[in-house]
Amino acid sequence: MAVYTHDVLVVGAGLAGMRAAIEAARNGADVALVTKLHPMRSHSGAAQGGINAALGEEDSWESHAFDTVKGSDYLADQDAVEILTREAPANIIELERMGTTFSRVEDGRIAQRPFGGAGFPRTCFIADITGQAILHVVYEQVMKLGITVYEEYFCTSLIVEDGEVRGVVAMPLITGDLVIMQGKAVIMATGGLGRVYAPTTNAIACTGDGMAIAYMAGAPLQDMEFMQFHPTTLKDSGVLMTEGARGEGGHLLNSLGERFMEKYAPNKFELASRDVVSRGEQTEIEEGRGIDGCVLLDVRHLGEEKINERLWQIRELAIDLTNTDMVHEPVKVRPGAHYAMGGIKTNIDCASVMPGLFAAGECANVSVHGSNRLGGNSLLETIVFGRRAGESAARYSKEAASKAPVSEASLARDHTRIQQLVEGAGNSGERPAVIRGELGRMMREDVGIFRTKEQLESALAKVVELKERYQTVRLEDTGKVFNLDLLSIFELGGMLDIAHTMVAGALAREESRGAHTRRDFPERDDEKWMKHTIAHREEDGSPRLEYGDVTMTRWEPEVRTY
Ligand SMILES: Cc1cc2nc3c(=O)[nH]c(=O)nc-3n(C[C@H](O)[C@H](O)[C@H](O)COP(=O)(O)OP(=O)(O)OC[C@H]3O[C@@H](n4cnc5c(N)ncnc54)[C@H](O)[C@@H]3O)c2cc1C
Repeated sequence: MAVYTHDVLVVGAGLAGMRAAIEAARNGADVALVTKLHPMRSHSGAAQGGINAALGEEDSWESHAFDTVKGSDYLADQDAVEILTREAPANIIELERMGTTFSRVEDGRIAQRPFGGAGFPRTCFIADITGQAILHVVYEQVMKLGITVYEEYFCTSLIVEDGEVRGVVAMPLITGDLVIMQGKAVIMATGGLGRVYAPTTNAIACTGDGMAIAYMAGAPLQDMEFMQFHPTTLKDSGVLMTEGARGEGGHLLNSLGERFMEKYAPNKFELASRDVVSRGEQTEIEEGRGIDGCVLLDVRHLGEEKINERLWQIRELAIDLTNTDMVHEPVKVRPGAHYAMGGIKTNIDCASVMPGLFAAGECANVSVHGSNRLGGNSLLETIVFGRRAGESAARYSKEAASKAPVSEASLARDHTRIQQLVEGAGNSGERPAVIRGELGRMMREDVGIFRTKEQLESALAKVVELKERYQTVRLEDTGKVFNLDLLSIFELGGMLDIAHTMVAGALAREESRGAHTRRDFPERDDEKWMKHTIAHREEDGSPRLEYGDVTMTRWEPEVRTY
């Protein structure tokens, strides 16, 4: 049996994971990335619109921080928001020095476009392929530093001994044999969970694995009920049309040709925060002013030249996927499941409550987004908190006393699970895709933009039912090499656990805040609910909810209008 040993293991090689690995290496740690995909296929590469930083002379980090706190509907931890926004400009400049080809204005400075909920145009971008461009640059640095990358290694669980995280169990997809990866510190950077919903803007691999793995091992998940619905996704595929389209001046129209956002956000119109715009769209659609269950995104007035310069990717996507050329016609869009505000609870140094376990990026909840994230702040979070996670984990690994090698029994549980699946292959149970399909549909219908007690109770019953059916899930492919069937069974187990925390959190939270809108409790209730939901996994797999304080530094909650 193979055992690999490093000081710091980073699970996930998207922007957060790679940025963390770079920083750990710079701090002298022997670091390795473990990733189920080639790093360049990470979902970070799909990010379109941009990354925020207060670079402008009239802008300030305080203003960025205030917008973020207001956008979060006052649930974000303000100390974390201060770090995010204060450190943003230096991080952008560093990315530029590494070679990121940011779009520019005439005089050569980095261009910035307006984004939803922002008081200034502070979203830096590379046309509408921002994530792809930054991912390339960061990967170059990983190669330059000679960081070990275990690519196409699927992490199945954390190794915990005496309450300390000591490494991970992983399956190289090429051999199918489990290996032990020993580390003094582990950083989870596995990205989002969008695939719990169907459809979603998220890539096929965004199944929330790291959250589920950490949760299973005893690390609590925070604020899981808050799921962001992006206002502009294509009707059937759910593919994203960047917020940059509105940032560049695009309009949203209903079936009467009205710019309906005037009603919902009289000052900001289309550039209110995402929860507000998505609720506006959904209301138009439900009240009969939609078109085929959608509204229209209209950028025709920007002209072909600007569209080709700034929004060429989404023009192509709309042509390929819906046969609509945005230069000549508006495209049909609707709100779609996009981003998980919740994740593994960490402090501002990215440490989880389990010694040795750190987390950064979309799988983490350091709580900079609270109940609603501003566009452009997530890429920023991966860079700022990825860096901090790398630094913290390297420090931790240096201070950690040396210990006996982890026991081989660490992979027994996953090994037995695989054996059972292989032995039971072809049994009468259901295929994972069937259960996953039902989960996605149920989450879309009952845990969507508007929620009610009845819907959430039915969702809870459904999750419990799906978990039961999952017990006898059927493996079809018993091969060892690239067994994606087996992979999907592992992913599904985690997705069901995660969905459980999302539904339970949403049912318990009897108020409307940010992306969580209860029709039966339409107001924000600071007295009772200005607190984080913290989910612990019980023996039987169900979540136990606790609540934690929100850290406030300087911004008192106000009525939130745009
Ligand atoms: C279409 C789209 C557009 C977006 N546009 C923007 C934008 O313009 N601006 C913005 O701020 N945000 C945007 N976002 C959000 C932002 O891109 C993501 O939140 C962010 O990139 C997540 O980065 P990450 O490093 O945390 O995870 P990811 O980039 O998703 O990387 C996850 C990594 O974890 C690995 N992994 C996962 N599970 C396992 C496992 N079990 N074992 C081993 N490895 C595993 C994967 O291989 C991958 O390398 C967008 C999101 C989407 C979906």
